[in-house]
Amino acid sequence: MPSFGAWKDQIKKTYKYYKDLSTLELEYVINKIIKNNKTVKKSVSDWPKILDYITAKFPKVDISNVPVYIVPHLAMYKSGINGNGCYVTHLDIILVSDKVYTVNAESKTVFNKIVNKCIGIELNVEDIVVHELLHAVSNRTGGLKSSKAEEEFVYTNCIPFYKSKGMTDKNIIDTIIIPFCFNDVMVDSDFISKMWNNVGVNIDEHVLKADRNKVYNKYAEQIVPIIVEESRIRAQNMIDLYYKYGQNMAHCNLNPKSGIDARLDTIDFGTEL
Ligand SMILES: [Zn+2]
Repeated sequence: MPSFGAWKDQIKKTYKYYKDLSTLELEYVINKIIKNNKTVKKSVSDWPKILDYITAKFPKVDISNVPVYIVPHLAMYKSGINGNGCYVTHLDIILVSDKVYTVNAESKTVFNKIVNKCIGIELNVEDIVVHELLHAVSNRTGGLKSSKAEEEFVYTNCIPFYKSKGMTDKNIIDTIIIPFCFNDVMVDSDFISKMWNNVGVNIDEHVLKADRNKVYNKYAEQIVPIIVEESRIRAQNMIDLYYKYGQNMAHCNLNPKSGIDARLDTIDFGTEL
């Protein structure tokens, strides 16, 4: 689950970090995390409810042998793996931080502090474990071409599990899906430029990144609630589409204006599941 720390910049940094690392180096980093004396190796059977849930939902896929490493939060953060957890495709292993938050608690900018105030919350480790295991399911069925579709497949297919724990749509949106949708809104240039227009700021005047960051910090109190509100709409849209069209579809486009056409322009991997 990608946490959403310094938003775009952080994501770009992480992406670049991964890109710059050869597979060997990545393995070195992961090895170091795994060997940390506070890291605990678990197996999927340590979460019987999750195993039962995934087995019932995807009976042809076996994820029972995927090792799950519970990693000290700081070790995860220092490693450069930005997030609460990750599924390492080529090693077929899962790493999950022992403390998980919707928002990167280390972020120090005014903007991120306000985001943290609006939607930051501590999550349960098992909520991340189920998420990462769904990535393993996806990988075993060939994976999804776009990372957005991959994440949407994972987030939505976790919904019945969260509901089985007594969570409402609102709980699921506010704790689980909102970071993903927040990030989706942040990279939606149409929405963001309209938002700046409404606030009365010509963002194009601030071409330098440092300058742009200053504007985001200056107007954070005003814009973060707007972005959060739009994120909630998109998160609800994901849930609605999931219930309408089912587990085998990924919507790929979270914009609520896109309807059935966008939903159908997707990857259907029902046959493999
Ligand atoms: Zn994910």
